[in-house]
Amino acid sequence: MKDLARFAETCTGLDHNSKLKLILFAAEAKPNTYIHLKITKNYHDKHAFEELLRKHNIPFECSRAKGFEEITRVSAKAAHWRLAGTWYGYDLFRNKKAQVVFHQAVALIRQGKHAQADKILGKHYGYPDCCVKKFIATHDPKEVAKKTTAYNYFKELHDSDKAFPFITHTPCSSKCAASKKLNDTYKKAVQAHAPRFFREYAKKRTYHVQIVIDADNDLIPFKKKDAYDYGVVTLDKIEGHYVMISWLSQKKYARGTVLDATVTLQYDYGLITPKKIVRKGTGFRHERHLTKL
Ligand SMILES: [Zn+2]
Repeated sequence: MKDLARFAETCTGLDHNSKLKLILFAAEAKPNTYIHLKITKNYHDKHAFEELLRKHNIPFECSRAKGFEEITRVSAKAAHWRLAGTWYGYDLFRNKKAQVVFHQAVALIRQGKHAQADKILGKHYGYPDCCVKKFIATHDPKEVAKKTTAYNYFKELHDSDKAFPFITHTPCSSKCAASKKLNDTYKKAVQAHAPRFFREYAKKRTYHVQIVIDADNDLIPFKKKDAYDYGVVTLDKIEGHYVMISWLSQKKYARGTVLDATVTLQYDYGLITPKKIVRKGTGFRHERHLTKL
């Protein structure tokens, strides 16, 4: 399926994560997958993609069209979003049997049987058993809050991102042996099947920019907050876009604080090194300007 890997490499409507998953699927390294295809000016891509799937007898399901937004302007006070195009979600299956199993899991989710569904879906997507078990065990944010601190929890997530940039699941730990093995297998598959994407994905790019601090991730009710997992937005465009990055900081910043920083992008994550505070925060909001397509 060289042509499918080539499509993944060159299509402008796929983000890095979707490119990676489609390449791994085309390389037959990943059994089944789910990707997003964005349509802005690349009108032909939906048709071209579906033609390729049919050519290779890949069973697939495409969602209805949904709108997506992009940041068009950022100030220290607000990010302005505009509708930028439509996107489709594609479930791709190795064969008809996998498609049937997938629908069994979806039916279980509808019945509220999440643990049972996750077990099936973990296998469906090729995730290691240890990671699926841990994922199911940490469903309840209140239980997570009892067992760890904010710093340790978020540090582990960020460390896992750095340790395993080629896997597409949340590993049970940043030291998980099964995830390490899978990461190595996937890395080799990407290198062999999509060398152009591999170079682009693995390249370390560093920028000196101003960033503005947005809200921190408060989905888990930690008793004592010893760290903050901030969303930050770049005040300058990087590679043509305003970029949102999650940043773990042990220091507290008011929302809307502007910092001089170094941002390093590599794989699917961004690293931030703060330099100095440019202005103290007085709040930050997201303004959505919705226009009809
Ligand atoms: Zn694991």
